[in-house]
Amino acid sequence: MQVNKRILTSEIVKERIDVLFGLAKECAATDGELSREYVRHMKKISTHCRTKLPKAVKNGICKKCDSVLIPGLSALVRVASSKRYVVYECLACRTEKHLHY
Ligand SMILES: [Zn+2]
Repeated sequence: MQVNKRILTSEIVKERIDVLFGLAKECAATDGELSREYVRHMKKISTHCRTKLPKAVKNGICKKCDSVLIPGLSALVRVASSKRYVVYECLACRTEKHLHY
């Protein structure tokens, strides 16, 4: 049986990204630097293997400082209803992320 190596690699990378994002979320409250290190490692794996980060993961991390954005803990969330987007403000670096709805 012939298995496409690229598909197999992609599956492994997705699984690894899920594990690393889970770990980053778990330790975000206790050790912020370790959490950021997990996110940087996750981004490095994704870049190296040319696999896109899932949308849920990409929307859950700060682009500037690699913090995990957890509402109430590491992010401030508000709705800009007139502009039709949700604003996630990172509490570590104050960078805003706009998610349109
Ligand atoms: Zn940030």
